[in-house]
Amino acid sequence: MSQIPERVKQWMPAHLHGLEPYDPAFTPCDTILSANENNFGVPASVRDEMLAALAGVEEMRYPDALSGELRAELAAWHGVEPANVLVCNGGDEAIFNFFLAFGGGAKLLNCPPTFEVYELYGSMVGVSAHNVWRDPETLRPRWDELLAAAPSCDLAVITSPNNPTGDAVERAQVELLLEAVPGPVLVDEAYAEFTGAGQLAAGQPGTALPLLQAHPNLVVLHTLSKAFGLAGARIGYVIADPGVISALAAVRQPYSVNSFSQAAALVAVRRREEFEPNLRTLLAERSRVQCALAELPGVTLWPSDANFFLMRVPGAAQLRARLRDEHSILVRDFSAKPGLQDCLRVTVGRPEDNDALLGALGTLLG
Ligand code: PMP
Repeated sequence: MSQIPERVKQWMPAHLHGLEPYDPAFTPCDTILSANENNFGVPASVRDEMLAALAGVEEMRYPDALSGELRAELAAWHGVEPANVLVCNGGDEAIFNFFLAFGGGAKLLNCPPTFEVYELYGSMVGVSAHNVWRDPETLRPRWDELLAAAPSCDLAVITSPNNPTGDAVERAQVELLLEAVPGPVLVDEAYAEFTGAGQLAAGQPGTALPLLQAHPNLVVLHTLSKAFGLAGARIGYVIADPGVISALAAVRQPYSVNSFSQAAALVAVRRREEFEPNLRTLLAERSRVQCALAELPGVTLWPSDANFFLMRVPGAAQLRARLRDEHSILVRDFSAKPGLQDCLRVTVGRPEDNDALLGALGTLLG
């Protein structure tokens, strides 16, 4: 996608002049480990029912604006009321609407290196970020600084597990943040299901959800793009106080979640326990891959609670290019990002994906 030409920029407000069309840095490869997708996909038996459900969609009708059936199923799973849930066109839409509803002119407490869209979407609606950078070595949040800055900010976002560093936040820390920030706190739990085995069956994959009753400023974000392997369906959801849900519902586009995605997601969520075996394999693979990589010369790894991990290796950008060009393996290069010099982010794939990665890195680094 080309840059926005100057003649078009002059029609745009000045605060948007720095924007560029999003580039996912995608190249077709045999092994895709770059976007934190779930390479296991949807289990075959669940997929069959999903396809049957798609065939029954009445495509001439507008979708159910609030995804009623899916909303009720998600609410029952998480032990909340449907009024606590809002289904969105991926977590991305939820993040955008969070800033649209609460962000105009506000100061956002942010904890980079983290998911870059918070600052990006916030900037589009006049949000200024107060960045409390993570510890440069551990890449963990500096809680003392975060909590000290919180009262002077209007809203906050914390990501658990964080992208791209992989670390989850303790619920007790989230609670302190909820108490210190005067406004809504978005707890982005896109990767929460990977924090340990049994999360889907247990019904409480969100680490912060139990805080909701006592803290009406908690806004939890989940997605079906990761653990459920449905990135293409674009389904995310927010769990929050009904008043917060009303504000998010008021700014959203009413039909942003299409009927096909609602139907597919309903099947996936109803049959969520069938995703658990692949999830367990993935967690075992995460350990296996990290143990093997730790043996390679020059590699630094950070522990991960997600379906990806960050690794630092000298010449990371060149290594990423060689993985792509010589081994048809795609990983994500973060080496040009502040605080992430020489870092690559690697998604944990199926055993065969991970074998390919380990073989290639053994050749290139060994
Ligand atoms: N939050 C985080 C931390 C993410 O990494 C992502 C996806 N990269 C999202 C939210 C949004 O995911 P989706 O829009 O696919 O639901």
